[in-house]
Amino acid sequence: MKPFTYERATSPAEAAASAVRVVDAKFIAGGTNLLDLMKLQIETPKHLIDVNGLSLDRIEPLSDGGLRIGALVRNTDLAADQRIRRDYALLTRALVAGASGQLRNKATTAGNLLQRTRCPYFYDINQPCNKRQPGSGCAAIGGVSRQHAVIGSSDACIATNPSDMAVAMRALDAVVETVRPDGVTRVIPIADFHRLPGDTPHQETALAPGELITAVTLPKPVGGTHVYRKVRDRASYAFALVSVGAIVQKDGSGRIAVGGVAHKPWRVEAAEAAMPRGPKAVAERLLSGAKPTKDNSFKLTLVERTLGAVLAEAKG
Ligand code: SF4
Repeated sequence: MKPFTYERATSPAEAAASAVRVVDAKFIAGGTNLLDLMKLQIETPKHLIDVNGLSLDRIEPLSDGGLRIGALVRNTDLAADQRIRRDYALLTRALVAGASGQLRNKATTAGNLLQRTRCPYFYDINQPCNKRQPGSGCAAIGGVSRQHAVIGSSDACIATNPSDMAVAMRALDAVVETVRPDGVTRVIPIADFHRLPGDTPHQETALAPGELITAVTLPKPVGGTHVYRKVRDRASYAFALVSVGAIVQKDGSGRIAVGGVAHKPWRVEAAEAAMPRGPKAVAERLLSGAKPTKDNSFKLTLVERTLGAVLAEAKG
C-alpha cells in the first residue's frame, strides 16, 4: 500500500471542500471496497478523508411519505429497518443478497452506490483496462467475458455494476442527495447517477470532483409485491450473473430493474408496459439492442427465465 495522509471531516461541506483542496483525495467510510483496491494499488489516493463522524447515519421520515436514508447508514441497519422491511421490501431483499454479514455491517449506503466493478481484468494491474488506466485498452474484450455486460457497453469497456442495492434503488426511483465543494447541495435521480461507459469508463457516476453523497431518499411507498432474485455461480458471497428486482401490482403492472447486465442498474420503463404479457415480452424490450459477447449470450435467456420466476413468485 502506498503512503497516504488522513483527516477526520467534521461537516459534509468541509469534507467536500477538502476533497478538492488536497490532490488525489478520497472519501472513506466503511472502506469495504476502497481498502482492497488500495492494497492492490488499483486506487492510490494520497489523502483519505474519513466521513464516519458526519452524523449521516439516520433513516428519517419525509413529509411526502417517503424516507431519507443517511449516506452512512450501514447496509445491515438499512435492511433491518422496520419501515424498509414493510414498505420497501425490495431494498431489504437486495441488500441481504449482497456480500456477507460482516461486510454489510461495515458497508454504507453511499459506499454501496460507489463500489467499483468486479471485472477481473480491472483487478489485475498487469492487464490493460481503460477503467483503471484510461487509454490502455480493455482486456475483457476478446478475453474471458462470461460475467460482463450484454447491453449499454462500449468499445472501451464491457464491465458491469456489481451492486444489488442499486438495482432495488433504481426500481424504487430513489434520489441521491449531495453536497459540492462550494457548499451547494443538489439531488440526482438514481436513473442519472450511474453512467454508461462510453469512451470514459473511469467516470462511473454523475458526481463532480469532490462532491459528497449525503443521503438517498425514497419516494412514498408504491405497494405491490416486492421480489428480488439473484442468479450467481455459488449460493452466497458472489456477484450476480443476472439479478431481477420487481415490484408487481395486483393488476400485473409494475416495475422491473435488472443487475449483472450493464454498467448501471438496467431499467427500461417502456418494457414494464409489457409485464401483463409475460417475461418474454418484457425481456425483448428490456434487452433490445443487446450486444453480448461470445461468452455471455446465455445472459439473455437467463434474464428472461429469471424474470419468469420473479413474476410467478409475485403472483404467488
Ligand atoms: Fe477494464 Fe472495463 Fe475492460 Fe474490465 S471491461 S478490463 S473494467 S475496461
